[in-house]
Amino acid sequence: MTSIFTKIISREIPSNIIYEQDNIIVIKDINPQAKHHYLIIPKKEIPTINYIEDIDRDLISEMFFVAKKVAKELWIQEGYKLNFNVWKLWGQEVMHIHLHLLSNI
Ligand code: AMP
Repeated sequence: MTSIFTKIISREIPSNIIYEQDNIIVIKDINPQAKHHYLIIPKKEIPTINYIEDIDRDLISEMFFVAKKVAKELWIQEGYKLNFNVWKLWGQEVMHIHLHLLSNI
């Protein structure tokens, strides 16, 4: 089944995309838990961090570099949180990995 984030990536459903590069998009979270709440999403649909493989090393690394770049562009680089929720017992709702970027600056 196609994830909601894949549908956002393919523009099948609308979203507030604030940044995009070859392998990654960044969107505004629809239900923000902080003043700034963004999701850094690889275009490759991987269900959870438990499914990452050796071939994904560069992609996972790139997600953090995108987080750093976006934080700087938003002027929140002096304080933010990055987190992955992994699987259902820790509240992962969308089975397409995404790095949460939150800040109250
Ligand atoms: P998680 O619980 O880690 O799977 O987080 C999923 C996040 O995706 C939640 O913070 C939701 O608010 C967010 N979300 C779900 N659907 C959308 C959407 N269409 N556009 C933006 N954010 C979304």
